[in-house]
Amino acid sequence: ATPTALMVGTGRGAQLGILIRGPEVLEATRAVDTVVLDKTGTVTTGDMRLSAVVADGASESDVRRIAATLESGSEHPIARAIAADAGTGVLTDFTNSPGLGVTGTVDGVAAVIGRPSLLIAHGLAIPDPLADAVTDAESRGATPVVVGWDGRARGVLVVGDQVKSSSAEAVARLRQLGLRPVLLTGDNERAARTVADEVGIEEVRAGVLPAEKVAFVRALQDEGRVVAMIGDGVNDAAALAQADLGIAMGTGTDVAREASDLTIVSGDLRVAADAVRLSRRTLSTIR
Ligand code: ADP
Ligand code: MG
Repeated sequence: ATPTALMVGTGRGAQLGILIRGPEVLEATRAVDTVVLDKTGTVTTGDMRLSAVVADGASESDVRRIAATLESGSEHPIARAIAADAGTGVLTDFTNSPGLGVTGTVDGVAAVIGRPSLLIAHGLAIPDPLADAVTDAESRGATPVVVGWDGRARGVLVVGDQVKSSSAEAVARLRQLGLRPVLLTGDNERAARTVADEVGIEEVRAGVLPAEKVAFVRALQDEGRVVAMIGDGVNDAAALAQADLGIAMGTGTDVAREASDLTIVSGDLRVAADAVRLSRRTLSTIR
């Protein structure tokens, strides 16, 4: 492709609401055959809401307060749902474990919130009523997180968000372009399946840690696939950087934009399909 034609493509991209890192990105865009989509904040709005709280071995208000205080240190969409819920205590010794949850000391008490495995790793047992609440929320396609302190789990908080209204059409358009869509998420299998079914994606990888997201993209590349990864930068920035084409949601983090080749300003996934069509058209008319 001539530099002039690539410049034309870049300018057209800006009109469509796509920021392109450089003209050479159009070449990578044209070659893509697989699109890996992050779930939370990419296919879904990322606007998580708290829908239920189950307490066991503590009052519901203590569960809410300790959870909200821990999450006040995090910028994860789950944290925003929970931190908005209750007045907070004093948080010290905060640590974020990407893709797992967070730990900290709330009013002098060491506490943990996140995936069940994070609590187990900190020696906090999960009693049956809370284990059942986790299973129950997952079976409904929701996202449960567990909070615990003083030797055991003491609460389950159930959060969830909505599929973006444009996501199903976006997936259909990506398919029409011959691209293979895959949903990738750190969330539980059932929540992932529920979203995948709603937008028409068959291939799902759930319960994936941030490092495993990178490994998954690399494994596809090793199979000879040319991979686009679309994400919001929350626990997927390294995967965005690894992909042949990293696509950031403009509504996501600064880290996402820095790690990516393209940014979809509006966060509307249909624009990703527009980008692929634009690159193919731009590069075919000039050859
Ligand atoms: P996704 O791939 O859907 O964006 P993440 O990799 O960011 O998910 O997180 C995966 C899982 O880790 C979440 O579903 C949740 O169980 C847990 N988790 C991550 N961050 C937090 C947090 N701040 N508070 C509670 N749980 C968290
Ligand atoms: Mg994410």
